[in-house]
Formats: sequence, structure tokens, C-alpha cells
Amino acid sequence: MPHLEAASKLSTKHWQRWQICDHKSTITHISAQHPYHALSAQNWLSDCRAQLGDIAHYPQKLPEDAALPEADIVADSRPKAPSKGALLQHFLGIEIKTDKAVFDPDTAILMDFRTDQSRGIHFLYMLPFTDRRALVESTYFTTETLPESVYETDITTYLNDIFGISEFTEIRREAGVIPMESAKERTPIDKRHKFIGGAGGAIRPSSGYAFGFIQKQIFDMSTDHNLEARPPHSAVDIWMDRVFLDVLHRYQPLGPNLFMAMAGRLTGTEFARFMSGQAKFTTLLKIILAMPKMPFSLSALSVISGRSKS
Ligand SMILES: Cc1cc2nc3c(=O)[nH]c(=O)nc-3n(C[C@H](O)[C@H](O)[C@H](O)COP(=O)(O)OP(=O)(O)OC[C@H]3O[C@@H](n4cnc5c(N)ncnc54)[C@H](O)[C@@H]3O)c2cc1C
Repeated sequence: MPHLEAASKLSTKHWQRWQICDHKSTITHISAQHPYHALSAQNWLSDCRAQLGDIAHYPQKLPEDAALPEADIVADSRPKAPSKGALLQHFLGIEIKTDKAVFDPDTAILMDFRTDQSRGIHFLYMLPFTDRRALVESTYFTTETLPESVYETDITTYLNDIFGISEFTEIRREAGVIPMESAKERTPIDKRHKFIGGAGGAIRPSSGYAFGFIQKQIFDMSTDHNLEARPPHSAVDIWMDRVFLDVLHRYQPLGPNLFMAMAGRLTGTEFARFMSGQAKFTTLLKIILAMPKMPFSLSALSVISGRSKS
């Protein structure tokens, strides 16, 4: 997609094949048109910094009520804390190296639900950089984060159970918490003040996907006559996300089945376009038809009547 060209040029590896699996089946997607890219934050940020030019950058803490700096446009990405009880995507990942050649370097694993589901929706995410080196991440969609030791045990158990690895070297680790809720409207201080990124509603509530949407928001902003920053999601996507999140909140044990059903109905390209907010109407229809009717009808009614949990 045009807004991701700069980022994809900097990516460290991409995969045209990815999988989503549970105890019963494995869904394999292939897309030569929309591969899945891994991007190092360090490479990306140095490239961005090199392009800043005369744009001022404020790394120091600015209080919420601080006066705006002198500038024609002030792009504000200071995040707000998630609402109490909001669903969070929280994760810890470890990049590991092992002596045995156990990974398939051509296939990324986006969601593997062959994990303990007792704390809520939980999956392992794995990016195999080579047959011996991979990023392995334990991810939850729940309302509370967990002690570091829980994610660590998830990762070691997964590597042991699925790949038969009990020994590995840790190269680096990463962790994050991303809110899965519709962004709250923020009031600009004046016309120069534009909210961008998560603060500007760019994070897709149902998946926590942020990076691609932030690039789209900034690409659209740069081509807008008034440099307006708008949330990069369609009204239909936001509505579908609210119903989906309400179902996840109310019927957590259904979670893995919903993701498997959705992925199972789509081709790799349809899936990539849906996750990137570029789905055709026929793809949205396929997803709606793949979902269980009763919980989705009840959640749709909750959203319409303003009683939703999303
Ligand atoms: C380890 C990790 C892996 C991730 N992987 C993915 C992924 O694979 N795909 C994906 O789409 N997303 C991913 N994300 C999420 C994505 O990186 C974030 O959602 C995204 O960075 C949000 O961008 P942002 O600019 O809105 O906010 P941030 O990147 O959080 O930037 C906000 C900035 O504001 C600064 N700031 C905060 N308060 C103040 C203040 N008072 N004054 C001045 N500055 C302030 C912060 O220091 C920060 O630099 C990941 C996140 C993490 C942490």
C-alpha cells in the first residue's frame, strides 16, 4: 500500500506465508501481494529522525495542560490512559537462538492458540528469522496485565511443547500494552493542534494494529490541504470492531474460535487487506457470515442501544 512503501523498504524480513492455528487445525495463508513485514523500531526511528529537518521534536515531558509550542502545526501523540475495564492487548516477546534447526523460516505464526486459555484469550506469536532464530511472543487480550514470569513461562512451555526446545539463548526482549477500545474524542486547544497516532484514533480497536494505520493517517494528513489528522478507519470497520469487542468481552472462551473462523474464510490477500482496513465489501460479508449469529446479534443490539462493553 502506498502509505507503507517507506516502511517496507526498511523491513528486516518479510513472509508471504503465515499461519493461525489451534489444537484442531492450522490455517495457512499465502499472499505475494501483501506480505507480512518485520520492522526494527531502531531502524525506523533513525530513518524518521534523519528526515525531521526543521521540524521541532519534544522528547521532554509536556503536561496535558501545557501551552502549545510556537509552531504552524503541533502534532500531539501523547497517549491517554485506557478506560477502566477496557480490553488490553498485552505481551512479552523474547528473540531466541537455539542450536537445533526447528523453525520454518518461510512461515510466520500470527496466532497459535495451543496455549493455556485459563486467564482469557491467549496466543503465541512467532516470527522465525532463520531456522534457529525467532521472536516468540506471549500475547493476551484481557483487562489486566500479568507478572513478567507468566509470559516467560508461556514462552518456554510453548517452545518445549511445540518445537521440543528446552535450551535457548535470549538475544533481546520486548513488551507492550495496547488498548483495544474505540479512541476517545480529544478536544484540540486551537486550530494548529492535531492529535496523531493512538491519541488521534489510529489504533484499530479489534486487533491493536497500530503501525500501518499511523502511516496511513500521516500519509493522508500530508496530502490534506489543511493538514487535518483523521482516524484512518472507516465507519463500518469501527462499527464491526465495536460489536466484535463486545462479543470478546462477554464470551471470552469463544475468542480463539472467532479468529479461526474468520481466518478460515479468507484468502491471504483478503485477510491482509482486512487487517489493514482495506477490505472489500464481499470480504466483510464473508466475515459476518462466518461469525456465530446469536452472540453477534446480542452484541450488535448492545452497541445500537449504547449498552456495549466496547
Ligand atoms: C514491543 C512493541 C511491539 C509492537 N508491535 C506492534 C506491531 O507488530 N504492529 C503494530 O501495529 N503495533 C505494534 N506495537 C504498537 C505500536 O508500536 C504502538 O501502538 C504505537 O507506537 C503507538 O504510536 P503512537 O505514536 O500513537 O504512541 P507512542 O509510540 O506511544 O508515542 C507516544 C510518544 O509520546 C511521548 N510522550 C508521552 N507522554 C508525553 C508527554 N507528557 N510529553 C512529551 N512526550 C510524551 C512518549 O514518550 C512517546 O514517545 C508494538 C508496541 C510495542 C511496545
